[in-house]
Amino acid sequence: MLIMPMPHACPHCGRTNMIDATVSGNTYASDLWTDGKIHGGMAPDFDPPWCCAWCDRSFRQTAAVRLSSLPAEPEDARTASPATAEDLESELEHAAELPPGEEKYLRIRLWWMDNDLLRERESIGCSIGACVLALAGLAFAVRYGSWVWIVIAAVISLGLLASALGDSRDAWQSRAFRRALGGSDGPHAARLQALLPLLDPEEEGERLLRAEALRALGRFEEVDAMLAAPVSEDATRWRDTILAAAREGDRTVRVVPRPPIEPDRGRKS
Ligand SMILES: [Zn+2]
Repeated sequence: MLIMPMPHACPHCGRTNMIDATVSGNTYASDLWTDGKIHGGMAPDFDPPWCCAWCDRSFRQTAAVRLSSLPAEPEDARTASPATAEDLESELEHAAELPPGEEKYLRIRLWWMDNDLLRERESIGCSIGACVLALAGLAFAVRYGSWVWIVIAAVISLGLLASALGDSRDAWQSRAFRRALGGSDGPHAARLQALLPLLDPEEEGERLLRAEALRALGRFEEVDAMLAAPVSEDATRWRDTILAAAREGDRTVRVVPRPPIEPDRGRKS
């Protein structure tokens, strides 16, 4: 995946933002999730949301005009930051004045950000185990080793400790999100309720997203009805994964199983 900083004009204020734009990538080793996000591996995100460094408004990358050159004065270009859930919520306050489709984009991205908490691996056990081993190594180095080994062991221990703390924060957020899923009046449910009417059931991809949003809200009986019509061959696994999860009464996002690898029929023996 190739990412390069490129100048873009903010669609709200017109000022120059440097954006780390994805210019190439592939979906090898990535997963399709039931909420429509392709995640992991080298999967590029060609249209992420950014927060303008000048006016603090959020915008999708494809809505910003890519500039062919930098401003004459270096201080006239600032670096945009990736938009957070709070940035997108704040942008939704301007929903009435946004171009068509923009509110849907913002709400789908918010949904994905919520689900990202469940997509991250909870490797807290491994991190804490590695941290304990590193601290034991540090204690051994202090007792028997030279200063060089003590410094090396200390650096490794601190790195692993930071990783374990990060993993514990992710695990805590995931648990908090799962608890919030249980409530019908929580912020995640409210976001999904607002997204539902924006998804067109006549369009296959959006119909699947609508069924998935209904499943995430626990409205399982509506999922079957939403997915009763046939879908294209490419969408079959996606639909079947949503249906299976709904019948199990599961509301959390899932990975759509990859198709089996076909033998290379074009290869000569
Ligand atoms: Zn701006």
